[in-house]
Amino acid sequence: VTRPYDDQNIFAKILRGEIPNRTVYEDDHALAFHDINPQAPHHILVIPKGAYVSWDDFSAKASDAEIAGFIRAVGHVAREAGMVEPGYRLLANIGADGGQEVPHLHIHIFAGKPLGLMIA
Ligand code: 5GP
Repeated sequence: VTRPYDDQNIFAKILRGEIPNRTVYEDDHALAFHDINPQAPHHILVIPKGAYVSWDDFSAKASDAEIAGFIRAVGHVAREAGMVEPGYRLLANIGADGGQEVPHLHIHIFAGKPLGLMIA
């Protein structure tokens, strides 16, 4: 069971414009911005605009248009940033054991160097 959405989480504040961010891309369904504490030469976060805690409630509750828009936005950001040929990594941390710190669904995009194996 997914916990209720906390509209005071940091990404909700970013979506409302209450906290500044370095925006990479924005459309009706998604916002992409630079991670404040990059773990690779390029580290971008992509979030859906809707209030979804994690992959769990997004996949269960979001409309097909929201899901398609979000997935397409992730691909768009990686393409526009020139990451396709050298390659990149997508990561979603989900829940406590997944190491999720911010309770608004986000996909990490890492790129800019050979990333090696990273599972923990
Ligand atoms: P998680 O561990 O939840 O998957 O990742 C949360 C990410 O959000 C971390 O990589 C962290 O650096 C990033 N982050 C936390 N607070 C802020 C913020 O205020 N602005 C930005 N741009 N990134 C943040």
